[in-house]
Amino acid sequence: MHIEPVILPAQTDSTQSFYIYRGDLECAIAPGNKQHKLKYHLQRAIELKSSVVATFGGPHSNHIAAFTAQCHARQLQPIIIVRGEVHASLTPTLRQAVDKGAILFPSERKDYRLGLSSAIRKCVDEQFGQVYWVPEGGGGELGFLGCLEWAESIFAKTMSGAHVCVAAGTGTTAAGFASSSFASVSVFSALKGVTDLEQQIVKLCDAYHKPAYGCLKAFDESLHGGFGKLSDNLLVFLAALKRLNPTLQLDPVYTAKMVYRVNELLAQGKWRAPHTLFIHTGGLQGWQGVSASKNPYSNMSSTAGKALIAEICFVGAWRISLLRGTF
Ligand SMILES: *Cc1c(COP(=O)(O)O)cnc(C)c1O
Repeated sequence: MHIEPVILPAQTDSTQSFYIYRGDLECAIAPGNKQHKLKYHLQRAIELKSSVVATFGGPHSNHIAAFTAQCHARQLQPIIIVRGEVHASLTPTLRQAVDKGAILFPSERKDYRLGLSSAIRKCVDEQFGQVYWVPEGGGGELGFLGCLEWAESIFAKTMSGAHVCVAAGTGTTAAGFASSSFASVSVFSALKGVTDLEQQIVKLCDAYHKPAYGCLKAFDESLHGGFGKLSDNLLVFLAALKRLNPTLQLDPVYTAKMVYRVNELLAQGKWRAPHTLFIHTGGLQGWQGVSASKNPYSNMSSTAGKALIAEICFVGAWRISLLRGTF
């Protein structure tokens, strides 16, 4: 069971308790929520006898990391449509994907945004024949069902009265928790200026015929500059949190900002839940896209840290061979 207590910097007494479900420790090859979003998609691909599976993602995305790891484990051929240009020195996430056999297709943002209606999709279909497509981030009904199942498995292990906190991008994972047996859920968007996340999640749950019964409250990312941005306050907070919880690492894009916000509300006397359960949705590989000087965990051992060293060696070797070429 991966549930453990967390101490928040703003906690002054023990009248309120905080716990975290360590989804980051769940599965060695692809920890976090993405494996749950992918589970039924990849099962469907196998049922349909599609040995080639394609998806969309940004160059640092957790979805791509989980997608390639899970395809690799099932002997499926992963194809990834990468948002924007693909540079010769690949991001660590893309390099690891290529090492696991992924084929990358760069896609300019305009076409990328069209998703399953994009020209690049057509091009891949023509080239590879029967391709199973997983939507960006692993969403859709099959992604939702995987998250609902995950939420119920955590509910079965926990105190039933806990107020759940979960981070959101598309909101698919949060929808799984909102329609689960948990009675109250707070959702923390990783995007700035999202005003209708609650309605979006309720709509998602309704669309899949699993209504969100419990109490649902959503927050947007308005404190750190937007998606993927790190503020100095956030880094100071993570260092303080690490001193109090030395074995806990949060990811820079989603879970760090969720815990920051709850800590801030607690400091302001606005967080009232007696028992809070954070869901760690993984994503530690996301630190590979951040300079080591900003990474509060850079001296801690993790698979993400090891991968980073491998990337530096790779770039180093590449530079040396370039220099040789010039001489
Ligand atoms: C993708 C991701 C999320 C958001 O999941 P959605 O289902 O798109 O809302 C949250 N946390 C982490 C670590 C993620 O990688």
